[in-house]
Amino acid sequence: MASSNPIDPVKLDKLAEVAIKVGLQLQPGQDLILTAPMSALPLVRRIAEHAYKAGAGLVQPIFSDEEITLARYRNAPSESFDRAPAWLYEGMAKAFGNNAARLAISGDNPMMLAKEDPDKVARANRATSMAYRPALEKITGFDINWNIVSYPNPAWAKLVFPNDDEDTAVRKLADAIFAASRVDVDDPIGAWKQHNANLKARWTWLNGQQFSALHYTGPGTDLTIGLADEHRWKGGASEAKNGITCNPNIPTEEVFTTPHKDRVEGYVRSTKPLSHNGTLIADMEVRFEAGRIVSAKASKGEAVLSKVLDTDEGARRLGEVALVPHSSPISKSGVLFYNTLFDENAACHIALGQCYADCFVNGTKMSPDEIAARGGNKSLIHIDWMIGSGELDIDGIKADGSKVPVLRKGEWANSWSVVKKPIWTI
Ligand code: ZN
Ligand code: ZN
Repeated sequence: MASSNPIDPVKLDKLAEVAIKVGLQLQPGQDLILTAPMSALPLVRRIAEHAYKAGAGLVQPIFSDEEITLARYRNAPSESFDRAPAWLYEGMAKAFGNNAARLAISGDNPMMLAKEDPDKVARANRATSMAYRPALEKITGFDINWNIVSYPNPAWAKLVFPNDDEDTAVRKLADAIFAASRVDVDDPIGAWKQHNANLKARWTWLNGQQFSALHYTGPGTDLTIGLADEHRWKGGASEAKNGITCNPNIPTEEVFTTPHKDRVEGYVRSTKPLSHNGTLIADMEVRFEAGRIVSAKASKGEAVLSKVLDTDEGARRLGEVALVPHSSPISKSGVLFYNTLFDENAACHIALGQCYADCFVNGTKMSPDEIAARGGNKSLIHIDWMIGSGELDIDGIKADGSKVPVLRKGEWANSWSVVKKPIWTI
């Protein structure tokens, strides 16, 4: 290991700074719970330093490791796969109750579990989802400020750039992560301010339109997604219940809201493969009736997909609908990241499973029953998959049946410019 680290240390430090100052807006005295794969240790260290400089009380990292995960799949008794460390997640929920912030570093090998038994994978995921629920509810309910950023794991880099040697692949993936995360510019904090303002202009327009449904047409797609009653569009920066404005996802290009769990009709085809907990699901084609997926197929990972859909009743229904222009920087980079945090920001997407309370007017003050009454879906899972492309058209449908173009050939039909060009008159 004599070779120098292929990751630019200056940009890595900027990513850590953006995670703390933009992603979390970590406040003096706040504790931070940080989860990361072992391979992301260099970023964890940069983040811890910026967190303490920002006045963090305690930074507590929790690491996972690919070798240890695989050791379990290959050696553990069958009963192991119905278990999860509930005590850990209860502790996290307790810490969030005491206003700890949450940061996750994603960067696992997307194919880590590809060769493992899909039944074991599904059982382990289900056990984890159930045990994680008390903590996840505080995240989806925006009780506290939280953020996800990424670090280029070598196995991930080789999957994205298979024709390069490992160092080159890691450097290329790192640079792609830095560009998508807007830390490859002189003033990343200023760039995020501008980006948040642009996203706000889009969701403000969508909220003003009060659409009751969106109609999608494209190759293999003719889908009507009814929107939940009193839904609210969001994107970019978001104020958590603890009063702190955070940017939960870095990168982010989407504006999104809650579909109505019973009002989705028609069929849709995925436009990018989905990497789900170490397996790839490609070319999904599903049909909805009264909000429920009644048939589903995929060219790759169909067994995993059908297990996912059987997680619970809500796993067959939608919990999120998100709009991303085809010209988003991540889409333009042409890189398929095999990581939803990036790939969902390259294309319009929908998510199976749990909805976000924050995507309702006054949603964070509503009980789960009140959210369900407005059409919000409930599930142990939340899985985003990409349905956008340069061939997708979307119309907004209003309560009176009138239609408004929203996207044409993958681009916003409306253009907003936050910085208005001056109009010259003579
Ligand atoms: Zn999304
Ligand atoms: Zn999502």
